[in-house]
Amino acid sequence: MKSKILSELARMVNAIFSQVAEVITARRQRKGDNPIYREIEAERIHSNYIRIIPATVVLLIVEICGMLWAIWTNVKFDYGKGFLCSCIIFTFVSVCVIIAIEIDLRKSFISNKKKKSVYIAYWIIYMVEALSFSVMEYLDRGAINNYITFIIVFTLLPVIEPIPKLCVFAVSMAIEVYLILYTTGSIKTVIVCIALALAGVLFSQIRFFYYMSNALANKKLEFSANGDPLTGFMNRRGFEHRVNAMRGFCDANGYDVCFIMMDIDNFKRFNDVYGHVKGDICIKAVADCIKEHFSRPTDLCVRYGGEEFLVVTAQRNVPALLEHLTKLLKNINQMKIEDVKDSVSVSVGVYSVLNSKKKSTQYFIEKADEQLYKAKNSDKNCVAYKNEIYR
Ligand code: GH3
Ligand code: MG
Ligand code: MG
Repeated sequence: MKSKILSELARMVNAIFSQVAEVITARRQRKGDNPIYREIEAERIHSNYIRIIPATVVLLIVEICGMLWAIWTNVKFDYGKGFLCSCIIFTFVSVCVIIAIEIDLRKSFISNKKKKSVYIAYWIIYMVEALSFSVMEYLDRGAINNYITFIIVFTLLPVIEPIPKLCVFAVSMAIEVYLILYTTGSIKTVIVCIALALAGVLFSQIRFFYYMSNALANKKLEFSANGDPLTGFMNRRGFEHRVNAMRGFCDANGYDVCFIMMDIDNFKRFNDVYGHVKGDICIKAVADCIKEHFSRPTDLCVRYGGEEFLVVTAQRNVPALLEHLTKLLKNINQMKIEDVKDSVSVSVGVYSVLNSKKKSTQYFIEKADEQLYKAKNSDKNCVAYKNEIYR
C-alpha cells in the first residue's frame, strides 16, 4: 500500500516536471509559427471563462467551511487590521482580474454575454468575501479567512495569465507582510501567511500544468485530423469546425466577419519552370508570410486548396484591413526563395459582412471567390473588394 502511494507520487512529480518543460516550450513557441499553440491559447482563455462559474460555487463552499472551521477550533491569526488588509488586497486583486478579462476579451472568442456572467460571478465572490470578513471581525476571529482568500483567489481565478498572476501575487504578498509587521510585528504570522499563500499558488499551477498538457496532447491529435502538414494551416475540415464559433463571436461583439480568398498567381508556370518540390517550398513561404500578417488567436488561416488560402478575420475597420493586405502583397513580392529568380505574387478577393446570421458560410466564400476572379482579371497581384481594386 505504502509503496503504491509512493510510486503514484513519483509518477505525479515526474508528470509535472515533463509537463513544465512542455508548457515552457509551448509558451515560447506560441508567438512563433506553430498554430497548434495559438489554438491552445485561444481555447485556454475560452475554457477559463467557462470554468469560472463552477469555481465560484466551490469558492463559496470552501469559504463557508473555512469560517466554520475557524469558529469550531477557535483558531486566531488575528492581527488587528485584518479587515483592512483583506479589503486592500481583495480590491487590488479584483482590479487586476478585471484588467485581465478586458485584455483577454480582445484576443479570444469571448462574447459580451459570457463576459457579463464572469463579472457577476466575480462580484458575488466579492460580496461574500466582504460579508465573511465582517462576520469574522464581529466574531473576533480576525484574519483567518484572509489566508483562505489568498489561496482561493489564486487557485480559482484562472483568468490571469501565470506571469502577471505571479506579479499580482508578489505585490499582494508585499502588502500583506507589511501590514502584518506594521500591526503585530509577528514573524511567525508572516511565515504562516507566506506558506499558505505559496501552497495556493503551487496548487493552482499544478492544475494549470495538467490542463495544458492535456490540451497539448488533444491538440496534436486534433491537428493531425484538421491541419495541413505543409503549411501548418487548418484544412477545410478544421475550418468547418471553427468557423461558426468565429461568426458567433463577431456577431455578438459587432465585428465585421471578413472572408479573404487568396490564390498564388501563375503557379502552373512556377511548377513547370522550377519543379513541384520548389512549388511546395513556395506554398510554404507564402503561408508563412500570411501567418505573420494574421497572427491573432481569432484569425482563421486555412489551406483551402492546392495553392489557395482562405483567411477569416474579425475586423472593425475594413479599409485598414485592405491596407494591411496590400502590405502583405508587397511582402510576398519581396520574398526570396533559393534558386528562384522570379518574384511570387498572389491575388486576393475580400468579402466582409456585419451580422452574418442570415447567410451560410458557403455563400460568403463564393462572394470572396467572385472578388478573387475580379483581382485575377485585373492583372493579378492585387486585392479586390466590392469590385474595387487595391494595390
Ligand atoms: P492563376 O494565376 O490564374 O491562379 O493561374 P495558376 O497557374 O496559378 O492556376 P491555378 O490557380 O488553377 O493553379 C493551380 C496549380 O497549382 C495546379 C497545380 O499544378 C498546382 N498545385 C496545386 N497544389 C499544389 C501543391 O500542393 N504543390 C505544388 N507544387 N503545386 C500545386
Ligand atoms: Mg488555384
Ligand atoms: Mg493560382
